[in-house]
Amino acid sequence: MKLLTLFLIMLSGNSFLLESSAQVKSSGNILPIRGFCIAAPQPREVDTFVKFIDEELGPRTVNTLILRVDFNYQYASHPELKDSVALSKEDVKKIVAVCKKHNINIIPQVNLLGHQSWAGRIGNLLRVYPEFDETPNVRMPEKYVWPNADGLYCKSYCPLHPGVHNIVFDLVDEVCDVFESDAFHAGMDEVFYIGEAQCPRCSGRDKAELFAGEVRTVRDHLALKNRKLWIWGDRLLDGKTTGMGEWEASFNNTYKAVDMIPRDVIICDWHYERPDQTPVYFAMKGLSVVTCPWRMPGNAVLQAQDMVRWRQYATPEMKDRYMGMVQTVWSGAGQFMDVYYGKRPDSELNSPVKCFKALFTEIQNTSAIK
Ligand SMILES: [Zn+2]
Repeated sequence: MKLLTLFLIMLSGNSFLLESSAQVKSSGNILPIRGFCIAAPQPREVDTFVKFIDEELGPRTVNTLILRVDFNYQYASHPELKDSVALSKEDVKKIVAVCKKHNINIIPQVNLLGHQSWAGRIGNLLRVYPEFDETPNVRMPEKYVWPNADGLYCKSYCPLHPGVHNIVFDLVDEVCDVFESDAFHAGMDEVFYIGEAQCPRCSGRDKAELFAGEVRTVRDHLALKNRKLWIWGDRLLDGKTTGMGEWEASFNNTYKAVDMIPRDVIICDWHYERPDQTPVYFAMKGLSVVTCPWRMPGNAVLQAQDMVRWRQYATPEMKDRYMGMVQTVWSGAGQFMDVYYGKRPDSELNSPVKCFKALFTEIQNTSAIK
């Protein structure tokens, strides 16, 4: 029996088995998305940022650059919304050119729905168009503290206001055009205010349906120009059941939207304190996903290894949904580059610079095993 089995394997299967196992190892180890996410630089920082892309991101085989632009661009469609100091078209084209040189896809981000204020400062959209505010009754505090009586983390716009999409989609189109992008990141993380009782349009509505409706509206708009929507994943996770809390996951039932949003939305699944296994959850729901670490090098390496392992052992249906890794940086580009180039100390055990280096060393080492 043993001999017969061996003979049959030699005759028909052995070379196939060897070959297919090598293929799995080789293709499974190369992550399709090797990303970096950071705030777009200030105009005075553009040249250093171009150098950083050219000398650091390119050689590390970064192929996706999520740039948080928000109002840091001189929008021609809505100059009333731009920051007082903002990138010019010429600035942007310098970034576009160096990214093209290294085959890096730029995905610009403008925060939609949530994050329309930060601490005690209102964002440009609601400052100029206060009628879009989901909670106009909540005044911005002189001195912001958390927790506070209003439950104010960040303001949101009302997704059912009839005028809001006319404005924000002009920004989305313009920023995608100038960055020559086939994808857009809408943020949509940490939305605490949604379906609020005092909103005449949203009160009483299901918060998951409101969230999913906004995702679909943005996705459908982008699809008109064959662009893909990327969002952060935290609103689609159940914060209470998982123990992940109300920032990293949802405490207001928006998590049920995971079954309502279009399947071609790409999920940026951020976990900074633990290498959570949530990408498996998203992939099993039919959603493509990238894992996003921030400042803990040890976790980032584990998360990259998980991603490679999931791709190796996934069904063909699931494998392509495990898209890769995106290093997130939450300081400004200038501050990050100052630390990177040694102009500021990097004394902490965990830091975005250390995490970025460790993550891409791991990605390059793993990819080298072919
Ligand atoms: Zn509303």
